[in-house]
Amino acid sequence: NRCEYCGDENGPFEIHHVRKLKDVSKGTEKWKQLMIQRKRKTLVLCKTCHTDLHRGTLPDNRFAA
Ligand SMILES: [Zn+2]
Repeated sequence: NRCEYCGDENGPFEIHHVRKLKDVSKGTEKWKQLMIQRKRKTLVLCKTCHTDLHRGTLPDNRFAA
C-alpha cells in the first residue's frame, strides 16, 4: 500500500471517499482531477495528505505518485 498522492509507503494510510464523482468533477485541485481521471470514488492517502486535504491545504506540487 502507498499514498496515491505523494507516494509515501510508510503510512499510516487512510481512505478518502467522495459520495459521487460529480462532487469533485468541477474541482481544479490535483487530488480531485486524480479521482476523475481514475473514475474512482476512493483515494488511498497517507495521514498527512488526508489531513491536509480536509483542511484544504493539500499542495498540488506534493503529488508524486
Ligand atoms: Zn501522502
